[in-house]
Amino acid sequence: MLKKIHLSASNVNHKEILYIQEAINRKEFSNYGANLREFQIQLKEYFRERREVVLLNSGTSAIHMALINLGVKRGDEVICQSFTFAASAFPILYQGAKPVFIDSENDTWNICPNLLEEAVKARIEKGIRPKAIIIVHSYGMPARMDDIIEISNKYEIPVVEDAAESLGSSYKGIRCGAFGDFGVLSFNGNKIITTSGGGVLLCKTKFQKENSIFLSNQAKNNNSFYEHSEVGYNYAMSNIIAGIGRSQMEILDENVKIKRVIHTYYNRLFKNIDGIKLSNEPDINFCSNYWLNCALIDKSTTGFTSEYLIKGLAKENIECRPLWRPMHIQPLFKNSLFYGPGVSESLFNSGICFPSGSDLSDDDLNRIQEAIEKYIKS
Ligand SMILES: *Cc1c(COP(=O)(O)O)cnc(C)c1O
Repeated sequence: MLKKIHLSASNVNHKEILYIQEAINRKEFSNYGANLREFQIQLKEYFRERREVVLLNSGTSAIHMALINLGVKRGDEVICQSFTFAASAFPILYQGAKPVFIDSENDTWNICPNLLEEAVKARIEKGIRPKAIIIVHSYGMPARMDDIIEISNKYEIPVVEDAAESLGSSYKGIRCGAFGDFGVLSFNGNKIITTSGGGVLLCKTKFQKENSIFLSNQAKNNNSFYEHSEVGYNYAMSNIIAGIGRSQMEILDENVKIKRVIHTYYNRLFKNIDGIKLSNEPDINFCSNYWLNCALIDKSTTGFTSEYLIKGLAKENIECRPLWRPMHIQPLFKNSLFYGPGVSESLFNSGICFPSGSDLSDDDLNRIQEAIEKYIKS
């Protein structure tokens, strides 16, 4: 059997072990130490000192922390992009709040600003002001941030920007993660860089930063006898994990470059194939890290479905996947509100993600191309 080609594996820098070893030598295992300090500085510089950085144990924790900071409580409503991974929406439920899902638009596949405004108006007319708007840059493609921020300002509803898949992407020259009142990054194993598991909350003020560090370290009012007056969380990143992040941060720019080269490769491959449309930046305002390369398959032209291609490539030990199954059609959210005509559902029905990891070799890419051509022709 040929070696498995994964959907999205990250490069290694080979300094990961060095930084971990240093931490072990210093016995800095816990939530303090040089790796945490350095990793935080690197991230702060990456966001050009515009954001405060809180290192956490996952992207999901970071979204939860954002909602806690925004005072989301039981019974509140929170607007959320439907076309995403469930971790964007789960923290709404952690808070006992209710999600209101919004459909995608056709260019970026992200939240449709017109539907967003329609939903906000409709909820306010009902006497309910949503507490937050969670938007996502799916697969690395930036959402229409100008329109979203305008709506956020007009109706005074803060934005939580789920940039878990879009570290290295930008919109009009501003890095994804730095638009929202809160930004979220993930360093899960399959993301653009990894710490094996980890996340970041990006925020605007020192107070939000200090409050988030306090809450994510078990809300200890006092460091000797541990007095507690609020619910705490064990969400902090460890200094061992931060060693991986510190090393990975050094290759972030390179990874993004590689990802964009892989995208060019797929563009060339699909250019002359009718009925397979690769996702591309709508115009020069958008710069995607192309975390995953995704395409829509028009069955009436190709004669086959995305499912056929996914199964075919699996036989060649090449991992592909459908696009996100939108939240509004998930059993868990069957009672939640949804605004839109169902664009996200049709994306799910005809979409496919191709292997896009920064570790792909030229041989891997050739194997992918041959396999795709084989199944398209048969
Ligand atoms: C990966 C991901 C998350 C969750 O991040 P974790 O670090 O795995 O908790 C959240 N939102 C989106 C869109 C993601 O892709």
